[in-house]
Amino acid sequence: MTVEKVYEERCIGCGVCVQSCMCDVLAMKGGKAEIVHPQDCMTCFLCEIDCPRSAILVMPP
Ligand code: SF4
Ligand code: SF4
Repeated sequence: MTVEKVYEERCIGCGVCVQSCMCDVLAMKGGKAEIVHPQDCMTCFLCEIDCPRSAILVMPP
């Protein structure tokens, strides 16, 4: 599976998830994190773990 969703209402735009992702799956757009290259996701869960707002959902394989 892959990174599934960014809960926009929870995202505070800190950019931590973008820094955590080694595969450049996420990017900041309009002050919120967005999934831009889902096909590159390695399902490592780092973005979900590191997000201080629990705003990212990664589906287990
Ligand atoms: S780490 Fe969480 S709160 Fe910060 S930009 Fe990413 S989704 Fe938003
Ligand atoms: S699960 Fe890993 S590879 Fe996928 S978006 Fe999050 S940090 Fe990037």
